[in-house]
Amino acid sequence: MEDWKLPSAVERCSTCAAELQAGQPVTSVIRLAAAGPGRQDLCATCGLTVGSEAEVFFWRRPRPATKTRQAIVDYTLLRELFSRLLERPGALYERLSYLVALVLIRKRHLRLRGFEPRAGREVMLVTRGAGEPALEVPAPYLTPEDMVEVRAHLNRLLQADLPDDLLADPDRGESAATDAEPTDAESTEAC
Ligand SMILES: [Zn+2]
Repeated sequence: MEDWKLPSAVERCSTCAAELQAGQPVTSVIRLAAAGPGRQDLCATCGLTVGSEAEVFFWRRPRPATKTRQAIVDYTLLRELFSRLLERPGALYERLSYLVALVLIRKRHLRLRGFEPRAGREVMLVTRGAGEPALEVPAPYLTPEDMVEVRAHLNRLLQADLPDDLLADPDRGESAATDAEPTDAESTEAC
């Protein structure tokens, strides 16, 4: 799996390398490719070529005048992205959509209904609000190292730095399956 080649602060159009100008519209594209999502930021001209392909999620904003990089996350947009991530198959998308769901729950853009077993796995049930149907979000087990890795992916996609507390694992309550403890090869051998 290739790593994402994405600079932390985008200064130039991903396609034509023109400098992105303050006040000009920038089209930010998240391409939901099979190998994993990648992001591009396009100038006004190149941004016009972005269509409504199935794998494309994009938004268009004027580039802020300030040079300071602000970690602003648009949660309404993030909720749309979440729906798209959730549709994509694969473990990486599963992890990303789970993390995005955690963020949206913390920010009250999704409501947590609880966890339920599904075919030997656990799903997190969330809704968009009262009276809305529940969405099933696969809830993979993530080690602290996994969390760091997936969060880094998410930060690169959003061009933001999501704080730790937004990604805290919710209390899953009384989970029935407490076996399957992953025993790492740390067994102390008797001398
Ligand atoms: Zn361009």
